[in-house]
Amino acid sequence: MPHRHAALKLVAANPEPPNVESALHEVLDRLGPSIFAGLLDTEGVLRYANRAALQAIGSTLEQVVGTPFESTPWWQACEPSQRRLKQALASALRGEASRFDVRLATSSGAMLAMDFSLLPLYGADGQVAWLIPSARDVTEREQAQNQLLLTRHAVEQANDALLQVGPDGAFRDANAAACRLLGLEREQLLRLRVPDIDTQIDDAQWPDRWRELYERGCLRFETSVRHQEGHEIPVDVSVSFVTSDGEIFAHVCIDDLRERRAAERRIRQLQQFDELTGLPNRQLLFERLGATLQTSTQTAVLVLELDRFKRINDGLGHHIGDAVLREAAERIAATVRSTDLVARRGGDEFVIVMPAPSVPALHTAQALLEGIARPMSIEGHEIHVTCSIGIAAAPADGDRSDILLRRANSALHQARLLGRNQVSVYAGAPHDDDPERLALEAALRHAVRDEQLDLHYQPQIDLVHGRIVGVEALLRWQHPTLGRIAPDRFIPIAEETGLIVVLGDWVLRRAIEQAAAWQRAGLPPLRMAVNLSARQLLQPDLARRIEGLLAAAGLDPRLFGVEVTESMLIANFDQAVQQLRSLRALGVEISLDDFGTGYSSLSYLRRLPVDVVKIDRSLVPDVTAPAADVSITRAIITMAHQLQMKVLAEGVESEGQAALLAANQCDQMQGYWFSAALPAPALEAMLRDGRQIDPALLGRRSRQRTLLLVDDEENILAALRRLLRAEGWLVLSATSAEQALQLMARHEVDVILSDQRMPGMTGVELLRRAKALYPDTIRLVLSGYTELQSITDAINEGAIYKFLAKPWDDEQLRAHLREAFGLKEMGDQNRRLDREVQVANRELAELNGRLQSLLSAQREQNQREVGSREAAQELLDAVPVPVFGIDDEGLLVFANAPAQALCGRGGDLLGAPATEQLPQALRQALQGDPMLVTLAERRWWAMSRVLNGNARGRLLVLLPQAGAST
Ligand code: C2E
Ligand code: CA
Ligand code: CA
Repeated sequence: MPHRHAALKLVAANPEPPNVESALHEVLDRLGPSIFAGLLDTEGVLRYANRAALQAIGSTLEQVVGTPFESTPWWQACEPSQRRLKQALASALRGEASRFDVRLATSSGAMLAMDFSLLPLYGADGQVAWLIPSARDVTEREQAQNQLLLTRHAVEQANDALLQVGPDGAFRDANAAACRLLGLEREQLLRLRVPDIDTQIDDAQWPDRWRELYERGCLRFETSVRHQEGHEIPVDVSVSFVTSDGEIFAHVCIDDLRERRAAERRIRQLQQFDELTGLPNRQLLFERLGATLQTSTQTAVLVLELDRFKRINDGLGHHIGDAVLREAAERIAATVRSTDLVARRGGDEFVIVMPAPSVPALHTAQALLEGIARPMSIEGHEIHVTCSIGIAAAPADGDRSDILLRRANSALHQARLLGRNQVSVYAGAPHDDDPERLALEAALRHAVRDEQLDLHYQPQIDLVHGRIVGVEALLRWQHPTLGRIAPDRFIPIAEETGLIVVLGDWVLRRAIEQAAAWQRAGLPPLRMAVNLSARQLLQPDLARRIEGLLAAAGLDPRLFGVEVTESMLIANFDQAVQQLRSLRALGVEISLDDFGTGYSSLSYLRRLPVDVVKIDRSLVPDVTAPAADVSITRAIITMAHQLQMKVLAEGVESEGQAALLAANQCDQMQGYWFSAALPAPALEAMLRDGRQIDPALLGRRSRQRTLLLVDDEENILAALRRLLRAEGWLVLSATSAEQALQLMARHEVDVILSDQRMPGMTGVELLRRAKALYPDTIRLVLSGYTELQSITDAINEGAIYKFLAKPWDDEQLRAHLREAFGLKEMGDQNRRLDREVQVANRELAELNGRLQSLLSAQREQNQREVGSREAAQELLDAVPVPVFGIDDEGLLVFANAPAQALCGRGGDLLGAPATEQLPQALRQALQGDPMLVTLAERRWWAMSRVLNGNARGRLLVLLPQAGAST
């Protein structure tokens, strides 16, 4: 491409410019739509403007030529730009070039941000002969910079701690959250360096650490930082690098891990210990028993079951049942040695593991029978329970945990058959242990064939809109004589005997056909989820078979899902993950079932190809649950979301649970509250009815300011309601804490005003709980009774926003409540912004990086272009051989001095087709290979070269043939 400089230089070399005008214009007009260029005389009067510049103001050349430049339309809308121009014109006449940013007006009314320069051009006499204005559009750059400013503001407001670090490790900048996290004032923090706060790194290591980080570009790791007061805070750090004005620094985002760690600890605890009795649970039992068998060869395993426990539970209620279990646990622990392990296996079953028993296990078992049989006194009831015990011992009865437990079980079964309140020792059986089991196994073999099996479908509901979005297929077995047999009972047998493969195939086929039939019948899209068993997951052709079944039934794979548990994955991790990946590739949704009961490690979750985490019902909290439980659920939800997984809560049995889950961003739920699993026709009817959860419950109705009043005195509630009637708020009232919690579950409450002294739970306690469950509410206490300490404590820990005294002043109380709503709304707004900021933050680092590289690339490109043009220009002029430039349209656009001399003409040969302008002999040379030509009585090698890159076209160079002259 011809460049303006080249052409202009030719113009300047010529005292009378107009002759080369066409060439010049041609060149300037080709500069592209975002480059304006023109020519001024030394009076500052516009002599020429290129097409792009004219188009921007919608004028023709005639309309503007002859006008003083500063009076042209470009400069009319921005006074400061005009001022700068005048200065620049003055400087240019003194021979100084100027460059600055301006705003130029366009005919559309829009302003263009441009990088403007004004260059003086010298005539042959060494005087400034012309001025060249040119401008380049930088709107994009400006916009990016503005965005940067906006984001800066957002950064300061962000909840995440954000810092900027230089190569020396010094903090360049920090937002308010960073200062809060470290307990430092900003000025203090900005005097520190990374090694001062990061506990994992010291001064000497810093340079290497920086280099390592920089080389890896962008990364995330965990470390801990030191708080001003000395304690360490575990954090998650993300670093990304930015280059600005040739300087490198790092953007660091620090996430406080304390809350997550605490939740993880608590989850681990829940996973390994039974909540009711505090004893190790089934999982820990299995681990410990395994470990014991490794070290101690003589080990007795006792399985103890309370007799007819169900009677107590059903007759006296669950809380009495729970108390009996706790009492039994204590008695067992008191009877055995401290070195023995007591675990609760579930329900009313306990397991005792006795490594190297000091007395025969039978004696201990007898002592246990007697201990349990002693009457228990619970809440005024005298309760009599007995138990049955089965014993197996290693190494005689086996040396593996599962075998020993199974054999102890079968001994237990024996004890039950003998009439309960008995101990039975495993006596060995030739083949299997459990007669009941054997019977079931045989029956199961017939079940498939005799069509005793059926599938029921439990709806899964989306908590955003309240609609049914899927169903889980659950197997049902109705035996002609044994009656209904629960899946928990027969699935394990099917698993062990391998029957599950046949069963599983049947379930897959039936479920897929059913789902396809519903779609054909025009029901709304619905995802069908099927439970897989461990054995199925290990079948190498599972994904292919499912694909085949889906295709045969004509069901979109996205309307199908599978549920697997962690324990299934652990045994054969790589293979299982591979299977799930193949299924997922089909579009099948993968759910992780029973999360929270097994090995549930959150870090492990990251590595699984899972779309949905199903929180087990034991982790689904109720509105009256302790705050810690809710925080665990919330932690799981948050983490799953961070991993881009959805969360479904299982076993939701009340409206309160559903509302609480929705308030905590849980995505979906299933459970008896909405519906148990139903036979296909019943489910179909439900779908046709369009049954759904009331959206009001999900807190997504249009917002009305909602106030909850809590006071045990009706007349006070009535007075308050009267007082607030005119405010147009939704005012709910409760006469007890319990009722208040129920209301909070059902309504999205903004402000709570509670009495302090109430029977049952004090106002402060209620508000503490409200804080844990619904942290965003604004909570106030209204009380005549000043229990100063507890209220001060509550205010300090943030459970209470304000304490108001009874009797109250009407106007003041209203003002306080209005202020509380204002605060709540501000908080809502901030949280919304925060979420946006978090997203923006992540994008910021990236944007910043992109912006910086864009800018520097642009800058470099400019410099390169200008620099290389000038250099090339000079170089070519200095080359003692003729050089012609022909652009990609065949116009002759350049000729250096020897070339002009050769043609005997000046610059006027430029701008016309080369085929017309060049001597006949040279025209041929343009086509290709070097050739010998005779010109000006000399022999030349004429060589034509295609130019690549920005300047497209070709160069024609003539080299005198060595020694040749005619
Ligand atoms: P799961 O996969 O965890 O299934 C959920 C169980 O919770 C079902 O029990 C369901 O009826 C029950 N449930 C649903 N809502 C509630 C509620 O609100 N409260 C309470 N307390 N329970 C609720 P179900 O049908 O007895 O199935 C038990 C287990 O048997 C299932 O647990 C699953 O592991 C297994 N299972 C069922 N069908 C199949 C199948 O087709 N294949 C395989 N491999 N396993 C199956
Ligand atoms: Ca399931
Ligand atoms: Ca489950």
